[in-house]
Amino acid sequence: MKLVKEILVPAEHGVAYHVKKGQTQRVIMVDGPQVGDWIAFNVDNFKEHFCPTHSYIHNNVAGTGTNTAIRDFYSRPPHLNIMFTVTADTVGTHWVMSGGKCTPQRYKFWGVEGHHRSCFENLAEAIDPFGLTPEDVPDVFNMFMNVEYDQQGRYHIKAPAAGKGGYIDMRAEMDCLVALSACPAGDVSLVNGEGPDKGNKRLKVEIYE
Ligand SMILES: [Zn+2]
Repeated sequence: MKLVKEILVPAEHGVAYHVKKGQTQRVIMVDGPQVGDWIAFNVDNFKEHFCPTHSYIHNNVAGTGTNTAIRDFYSRPPHLNIMFTVTADTVGTHWVMSGGKCTPQRYKFWGVEGHHRSCFENLAEAIDPFGLTPEDVPDVFNMFMNVEYDQQGRYHIKAPAAGKGGYIDMRAEMDCLVALSACPAGDVSLVNGEGPDKGNKRLKVEIYE
């Protein structure tokens, strides 16, 4: 594969970029453990976008836990086209199940006073230049997020399963507009005491063809 573009996602911010059919995007935890919230649209029809729910259904995985990440990334019904296919993954553990992303309300719930940047706002900012609004931000792929459930069914967010240099390769199966947020909650492992304000890092995207 030949590297054709490099994009740095600043800590706590989001970027949007195009990935053409046949190109591969590599998302790298370039500075260390860091969660990325990722969305994709068909560049010819923004109403067709990535759908986490139908992706874990069609991949026959629960959408969480070790090595249960999806391989094929489907668009929402009625389209249900494969938008991306995972071709390499050195991390292996992501959260597909929720489709959720952090919001200003979520940080208030965590006890943060005042405004705190969020993946929702990062993604809304990133897609704004393309004529899309905050209401157009779809559910996300929680890249590198490591979630486990306890016996009561409550979820617990742990540190990512890999550290600095961990990456996932995804080949585009259609021309896509993609947006990626470097989560302002860092690696989101609240359970190990880091909290949402510490350890925010950049992500790096490399586009290959
Ligand atoms: Zn977030």
